[in-house]
Amino acid sequence: MEKLIYLDNAATTKTAPEVVEAMLPYFTEKFGNPSSVYSFAAGNKEVISGQRDIIAGVLGAKSNEIYFTAGGSEADNWALKAAAEAYGDKGNHIITTKIEHHAILHTAEYLEKRGFEVTYLDVDEDGKVKLDDLKKAIRPTTILISVMFANNEIGTIQPIREIGEIAHEKGILFHTDAVQAFGQVPIHVDEYHIDMLSASGHKLNGPKGIGFLYIRKGVKIRSFVHGGAQERKRRAGTENVPGIVGLGAAVKRAAATMAERAEKESKLRDYLIERVMEEIPYCRLNGHRTDRLPNNGNFSFQFVEGESLLIMLDGKGICASSGSACTSGSLDPSHVLLAIGLPHEIAHGSLRLTLSEETTKEDMDYVVDSLKEIVGKLRNMSPLYEDFMKKEQK
Ligand SMILES: *Cc1c(COP(=O)(O)O)cnc(C)c1O
Repeated sequence: MEKLIYLDNAATTKTAPEVVEAMLPYFTEKFGNPSSVYSFAAGNKEVISGQRDIIAGVLGAKSNEIYFTAGGSEADNWALKAAAEAYGDKGNHIITTKIEHHAILHTAEYLEKRGFEVTYLDVDEDGKVKLDDLKKAIRPTTILISVMFANNEIGTIQPIREIGEIAHEKGILFHTDAVQAFGQVPIHVDEYHIDMLSASGHKLNGPKGIGFLYIRKGVKIRSFVHGGAQERKRRAGTENVPGIVGLGAAVKRAAATMAERAEKESKLRDYLIERVMEEIPYCRLNGHRTDRLPNNGNFSFQFVEGESLLIMLDGKGICASSGSACTSGSLDPSHVLLAIGLPHEIAHGSLRLTLSEETTKEDMDYVVDSLKEIVGKLRNMSPLYEDFMKKEQK
């Protein structure tokens, strides 16, 4: 087999073999609709509630606060739209940040067209929300604060507990998009004052097309999909039983291995960061140095074009990303990198490497050696770099 080093785990992860194994019977012999009365199918109802128990247990939540969705994007859409609708009589102001995933940003823009006012908070150069800015942005009409737990591009982890405290002191709902963080770092909904939380299966070695929204009991929230009585009448549609079983298995696995994975991956991440920063000149680390996801490295290389870098890395069997997968293909630089203050040309030369538990030190060495060679080649073809070096030599 050709060499393949997969370092794009923020885009999606490999479904773990035991997760696939847990799912398989629910496509074949256990295919019944959980809403049916006969015992052959009705058993699947208990299977689903078992998965809800697993997820609730990991978050310190109650089982009936977990609502299955078709992934992280749906959970984000639901949280914002339904809260806006349910609390619209109390106010029309929402606070979020400039570095959210597009599932939040584009939903917020949609709400703006429908009469809501949205404050998009700036972040500091490490990608962190400034708590003073948050406090200043709060108005009597603020109904919702939505801040992501950890950023999908630069890996920065937000001061979620403090943000939750500020929200709750003012009686404002707090939602967090925890799609990147859930399964990688410990999260407890009460300790962090979280009212709603989005997560997704395929970012934690589970299947694609399944996720959940945690909704704290007492939060007024409208149905997102109208139809049958599934998900406490709030999200209709025959349950994705294999997906839910896969999600439950993935969450169980992630919780059991979290500490061990985080330690292993953060060591390799730090090794990667140290080697890149020491051995490749005119390079910058994006995101907070320590308050970052254990598997995230994000770099900007001056005088290099991110897309060319990705293509040449692909030629060496390395799967990586520049900005987020959703925005690749467009020429706009990443909104996250612009928000942390990078000029356009530096933001364009950025690279995200996200590790998995299968990543080895040999992989990191191969990647750094390949990067040195490729960055060198690309710079040698760059007229900007040539000019820069001439000036340097003077
Ligand atoms: C991947 C991702 C999403 C979207 O999740 P899907 O399950 O792919 O819809 C939302 N937010 C963040 C931070 C993500 O990384």
